[in-house]
Amino acid sequence: MRIAVFATKAYDRRFLDLANAEFGHDLNWFEARLDDTTAPLADGFDAVCVFVNDRLDAPALTRLAQGGVRAVALRCAGYNNVDLRAAEALGLAVIRVPAYSPEAVAEFTLGLLLAMNRNIPRASARVRENNFALDGLIGRNLSGRTAGVVGTGRIGALVARALKLGFGCEVLAHDVVEDPALTQIGVRYVDRDTLLRQSDIISLHCPLTPDTRHLIDGPTLEAARPRVMIVNTSRGALIDTQALIDALKSHRVGGVALDVYEQEGDLFFEDLSNEIIQDDVFQRLLTFPNVLVTGHQAFLTEEALTAIAVTTLSGLAEIEAGRVPANRVTADQIRPAP
Ligand code: NAD
Repeated sequence: MRIAVFATKAYDRRFLDLANAEFGHDLNWFEARLDDTTAPLADGFDAVCVFVNDRLDAPALTRLAQGGVRAVALRCAGYNNVDLRAAEALGLAVIRVPAYSPEAVAEFTLGLLLAMNRNIPRASARVRENNFALDGLIGRNLSGRTAGVVGTGRIGALVARALKLGFGCEVLAHDVVEDPALTQIGVRYVDRDTLLRQSDIISLHCPLTPDTRHLIDGPTLEAARPRVMIVNTSRGALIDTQALIDALKSHRVGGVALDVYEQEGDLFFEDLSNEIIQDDVFQRLLTFPNVLVTGHQAFLTEEALTAIAVTTLSGLAEIEAGRVPANRVTADQIRPAP
């Protein structure tokens, strides 16, 4: 298949090229994000391959279809950036990567928590400047603390298991579907308010839906345990960032570790080191010594990138062969902002 790959970075090329040895697609790289203005770049291609911040609304999809494109391959799990009804009406097949490496995200979540709690980035920066003083670097043991995991699906279950069995935390969980394997190892399911009130550490792993949007907000932060630590590697809008900043300013929150941010689409995945950042909320967040932020990289392991590349290219090979791939997304699967 002739595929136009949008929003490509060097690591996308590397892993897609490697995986493509098995499939023999004709891969063509575009650094631009796909939207209705860049869609003409895909004229004459059979498929486009896109990522989380490409915008495949009805005008973009219409333009793609006019140019001869018949398939859209998302190299991510979420598909909230695609108008699936428009795609279906235009006869465009849409595929995604439902699960690539929950281990990658779970391991990163624990890494962020440890790095934030034990001040590892600050300590490392000090040592590089020959400052070996330890003031301000005191952390807290995780062992024996109560950790609350919201969403115990593929990633949350791994995090709950590691916190319980690896670190000796008491683990509370909340999910709309309970996992009996977690109950068996002593994880206790409670309602969301109880979890948010009783946890010393809160880790978010549920999807973004109208029900979970801003599930950490002013009132939940007010009711939370003093010096609660919050980790979010799921979706930025699970947290009301301004309320979090207010709680940090009043010392209610002990530490925050974020891999995702509500307005990340304007910032993440790009080198903006020579730009003036206009997002004052994000900039304020970065000023707290007990806040650690990374740019949506929890998935970024060799294993995950390989799995993403293989699933994407094999799905397109299935479409080329006239079959319906298992990772196809249809309009009847629509749920709000996964
Ligand atoms: P999953 O679908 O396996 O698990 C999600 C869990 O959340 C499910 O058990 C579901 O029942 C539960 N859930 C749904 N609604 C809920 C609610 N209202 N309250 C509590 N729980 C609810 O998904 P996953 O693969 O574990 O991914 C979890 C999150 O991590 C997703 O939001 C995903 O987008 C995000 N993610 C982030 C990265 C990253 O690089 N930072 C990478 C992959 C996934």
